Amino acid sequence: MEDCIFCKIINKEIPAEFVYEDDQVVAFNDANPYSPVHILVVPREHISSMHDITPEKKSLMGHLNWVISEIAREKNLESYRVLVNCGADAGQVIFHLHFHLLGGRKFK
Ligand code: 5GP
Ligand code: ZN
Repeated sequence: MEDCIFCKIINKEIPAEFVYEDDQVVAFNDANPYSPVHILVVPREHISSMHDITPEKKSLMGHLNWVISEIAREKNLESYRVLVNCGADAGQVIFHLHFHLLGGRKFK
């Protein structure tokens, strides 16, 4: 989608530090990390937010969650947090669905 920063990252129009890529999902380091490990796991398809997940997306969402667990294993994260902001009032700033994978420190 035009004017979507994450679509531009996925299309390699703007740079990011990729940690994982397949035909459905990409993952790259957050530009402003909240923790030592802060990776954004993102479907290639432009889906604006959790509000827009339809039954057809269930298998993509399952795959995306497997990717999160696989990256965590690769990074040897024993504990980690997975977070999604849905909607502006919840703190969503980028309206291309993304899962935050946070780790490498203790969270309260
Ligand atoms: P949200 O608040 O929408 O859940 O999270 C958006 C996240 O995207 C933030 O953690 C922010 O630091 C990250 N972010 C925003 N712009 C860029 C960018 O251009 N590149 C990367 N790698 N991360 C970004
Ligand atoms: Zn997008």
